[in-house]
Amino acid sequence: MISFPSRPLRVLILGGTAEANQLARAVAHDPRIRAMLSYAGRTENPTPPPVSWRVGGFGGIDGLVDYLRAENIARVVDATHPFAAQMSAHAVAACDKAAVPLLAIERRPWPRAPGDRWIEVDDLAAAAQALGALSRRVFLGIGRMQLEVFAAHPQHCYLLRLVDPPRAPLPLRDAEVIVARGPFRRADDRAMLSNFRAEIVVAKNAGGGAAAAKIEAARDLALTVVMVRRPFIPARETVESVADVLRWLGHDSPPAERGV
Ligand code: NAP
Repeated sequence: MISFPSRPLRVLILGGTAEANQLARAVAHDPRIRAMLSYAGRTENPTPPPVSWRVGGFGGIDGLVDYLRAENIARVVDATHPFAAQMSAHAVAACDKAAVPLLAIERRPWPRAPGDRWIEVDDLAAAAQALGALSRRVFLGIGRMQLEVFAAHPQHCYLLRLVDPPRAPLPLRDAEVIVARGPFRRADDRAMLSNFRAEIVVAKNAGGGAAAAKIEAARDLALTVVMVRRPFIPARETVESVADVLRWLGHDSPPAERGV
């Protein structure tokens, strides 16, 4: 009997994280899977992945529904950052509407270790408040998107670490900028915080290894960490690792055994 190769499974990967890139690399050479990696477009020069990729929003839930239908997407993997709550909520709604199975990679939040000096808050506005009225030296490990929140607290001296050099003046009066792309190392982050004489670290509880160095470094230096809790995301099926996603896609079995 002659068997004809079935058509590859079209998979949309919502990216912006190391896991998304790892997944793209894992499926790139599997003829049973045709992946499209989607970036929001926040980073100027994203590392080109080894699969097809696109940049920019879909135009809300309806735009994503249209995209899924037009591109015959059979599976969506939400590998966005845990704080990309809008994109994740849109993915839940759009996949439901278009009847496309959705799986999200959800890293575990970083746990508080004994001795950690964490102040946990629900959002960045509360984080800015938690810095207090007196002038502090603050490392903002939160990217560049929501710096305005801290503009209302100009008494502090800020250190920022950004992926791209700022193209416009920063909204902060007193701020130093380091341009660097993770993953970062604990010893380097310890040196960075010590050199700046940081007193407080502000971080989103992203979890995962790539950005954990600043939390470990703060622990080493006994610094206060103002930790922003995860935002709400509607219920969806989740896994913790790229390996789990590959199993969901049927990628872990050899091509001959899998009827896509
Ligand atoms: P967000 O608030 O959840 O999303 C805002 C809008 O940006 C979405 O509604 C969507 O536009 C578009 N968008 C977001 N992710 C997209 C993707 N992967 N592909 C296409 N469009 C996308 O997202 P965000 O917090 O601004 O994060 C933007 C990107 O940066 C995400 O890809 C995320 O993984 C990455 N990132 C975020 C953080 C963070 O702290 N938030 C940190 C590191 C990396 P439409 O409604 O038009 O579809």
